[in-house]
Amino acid sequence: MARGHQKALSQQRNLKKQDAAKKGQGIDQKTAAQKALNFKCVVCMSQLPDPKTYKQHFESKHPKAPLPPELVDVTA
Ligand SMILES: [Zn+2]
Repeated sequence: MARGHQKALSQQRNLKKQDAAKKGQGIDQKTAAQKALNFKCVVCMSQLPDPKTYKQHFESKHPKAPLPPELVDVTA
């Protein structure tokens, strides 16, 4: 009797754990994806996660192109 009860309990616990893991992952992936789409290179349309990365990308890939105004104040 006791064994069967414990088994059921641990199954419930496992289910809850899996559920929480799924939910947590879903939220993290969504926020990460949204953040990753914040900046788009005006020259090659690459998507960059933040202004520093964008500026570094711009200076290395398009050194001859004029720097977009939103990147002028960014210190890489
Ligand atoms: Zn680019």
